[in-house]
Amino acid sequence: MMTVLLRNADEKSISRLSGSLGKKGLKIVGMEKMGKTHALIETGAISIATQPQDVELAAEPKCSKQFRLASREMSLGDTVVKLNGGVEVGGRQLALIAGPCSVESEEQLLQTAIEVQKAGAQILRGSVFKPRTSPYDFQGLGVEGLSILESIREETGMLIETEVMEPSHVKLVEPFVDMLRIGSRNMQNFELLREAGRSEKPVILKRGLSATVNEFLLAAEYILSEGNPNVILCERGIRTFMTETRNTLDLNCVPLIKALSHLPVIVDPSHGTGKADLVLPMSKAGIAVGADGLMIEVHPNPKAALSDNAQQLTPSQFADLVKKCVPVANAVGRTMRSE
Ligand code: PEP
Ligand code: MN
Repeated sequence: MMTVLLRNADEKSISRLSGSLGKKGLKIVGMEKMGKTHALIETGAISIATQPQDVELAAEPKCSKQFRLASREMSLGDTVVKLNGGVEVGGRQLALIAGPCSVESEEQLLQTAIEVQKAGAQILRGSVFKPRTSPYDFQGLGVEGLSILESIREETGMLIETEVMEPSHVKLVEPFVDMLRIGSRNMQNFELLREAGRSEKPVILKRGLSATVNEFLLAAEYILSEGNPNVILCERGIRTFMTETRNTLDLNCVPLIKALSHLPVIVDPSHGTGKADLVLPMSKAGIAVGADGLMIEVHPNPKAALSDNAQQLTPSQFADLVKKCVPVANAVGRTMRSE
């Protein structure tokens, strides 16, 4: 699919074009009136024509990358994902996503939400569907957890995100959340990517455990090519020979992806390191290399957490992290909400 923005064309010439495009299997899928009419023509990557007669030229995919819609080459500028309450991911202010690995109870989520919100987080994370390595480990509260997300969202007014693990989860969780998350283990669950691409909700796509940047961007392309433009890429560490840390947070990939793509990139130093002590330094590093936000796991009592207990921060450690990250954000021309 490609979208051609046709500038300065009148409706008459667009309808004439629509006939000839139709014969080639291309179709005009929408019109925008911004001064002069713009026609949106779906074909295969983004290109711009200034005159109706340029359409045939512009309709040829010219992108050198397979991830045409995700590529910077074919974009009109950085994507800024806009959420309710004026929250943005990809704007000047960094997005701060925090919350427990797993939703365990209403009290646990409420206490975490209140504290992380006070410290500066705009988005609450919490998984109710958990992809666990062992089938004997806590698998999440499942559907039952959705009503907890709903009541905490109402009570605190926070934006909420949660993980979807299979296509049927997308429609199921949509009414309860503001964003969907596709976890590392499902980065190449293509049916899930397609279904998320048909959703109205922005999608946080985490990098696969051993995915290359090319594979990561092609996974994003699945979502974009179904029509959902709001994809946020999340670097969460990759599998290397290192055994002292859970993963190796690949901060190379932040500026690399920024050069290749217009999509916002956030960093998850919790899964990226697996160690609570390393979360602050790697958060600072992530911001310094240009990340558009952070995703941090926070639990009121990390030792007792039902999943990922070695990497979750206490609410006060999180508040301290935010304060210490603000000067780093400012040093690279970004702002950060803090207490
Ligand atoms: C998570 O964010 O809850 C999670 C399971 O992380 P990942 O998919 O990166 O392993
Ligand atoms: Mn986790």
